[in-house]
Amino acid sequence: MDRDICPVDTHLHRTLNRIGLVKAKSPDKTFFAINKNFPKSIAHSFHTNLIRLGREICTPKNYKCGICPVENICKFSDKNLNNNFISENRPFMLLDNI
Ligand code: SF4
Repeated sequence: MDRDICPVDTHLHRTLNRIGLVKAKSPDKTFFAINKNFPKSIAHSFHTNLIRLGREICTPKNYKCGICPVENICKFSDKNLNNNFISENRPFMLLDNI
């Protein structure tokens, strides 16, 4: 629909709250918080990249902080750095556009 907006599903709700970009108890509250002052033209790309992050790395359980591309800015207090995925090479690319 060509709207400059970032939809929020369970993946975005979880990752945005773990990273610390928002503090909200439900996806709809996260939606309004993240879209309040969103930089123009990157909302859709931001959305698709966070879906990928939530599906592949920042999963509900067994999340892989050791290979996470945003680990250095993430404020989540229960990071999982003691796993088999720790790597200096973080191949995940935050450049998806659909
Ligand atoms: S560092 Fe861990 S908790 Fe934070 S976004 Fe990455 S995978 Fe999720």
